[in-house]
Amino acid sequence: MTAQPPGPAQPAREHPRTIFVIFGVGGVGKGTLVARLLKLRDHLWLSRSWTTRPRRPSEPADAYVFVDRDQFMERVKAGGFVEWTEFAGNGHLYGTPTFDAPPGLDVVLEIEIDGAAQIKQRYPDAVLILIAAPSRQVQADRLRQRGDDEKSVVRRLAVGEEEDRVGRRMANHVVVNDDLSRASQELAGIVGSCRQHAGEARRE
Ligand code: 5GP
Repeated sequence: MTAQPPGPAQPAREHPRTIFVIFGVGGVGKGTLVARLLKLRDHLWLSRSWTTRPRRPSEPADAYVFVDRDQFMERVKAGGFVEWTEFAGNGHLYGTPTFDAPPGLDVVLEIEIDGAAQIKQRYPDAVLILIAAPSRQVQADRLRQRGDDEKSVVRRLAVGEEEDRVGRRMANHVVVNDDLSRASQELAGIVGSCRQHAGEARRE
């Protein structure tokens, strides 16, 4: 490799090295898997989304940036989201703010399918990983356990079936969350091998 003379300071990168998009329908355990992933792999930075949904009693205050619709739309107008959507499951707005990851860290997004499609279009190198439920029954049970009411469970299952079909076509990888420990190892393995390939491509 030829040594390069020191040049002017590089401008900040427009977006980070690798964007991992963990997506899938509600109740498949994306959140738990992502939490495990962050423990298993370092150099990852989890983006914190904005939402107009009210905070659930079980949720920590920093689970999202909780805002009202006006605040959300103001940020939309200012170009402050890399993707945003009105989530069919509950009619609330959700968005990924422009990335603020420290240099050298890869970004992890935990979002729904429409947002995943927007990210793929904007950043074609993003790695899309679909998390799938092992069965409808398991998905329904998980939604109920975390406090979704029956109407919401029925709606999310119906929307989820079609989204799962579309998601499988879009995804670079599919992880079935049949067993938390196994699925998180698989997810960490995918992230590790994508990084290795990205590193090799950069050296070529
Ligand atoms: P919940 O209200 O259950 O926390 O989230 C509802 C859905 O919105 C989930 O599928 C979650 O992954 C997704 N979601 C969370 N943050 C974002 C975001 O910033 N953008 C998009 N498009 N979806 C999000």
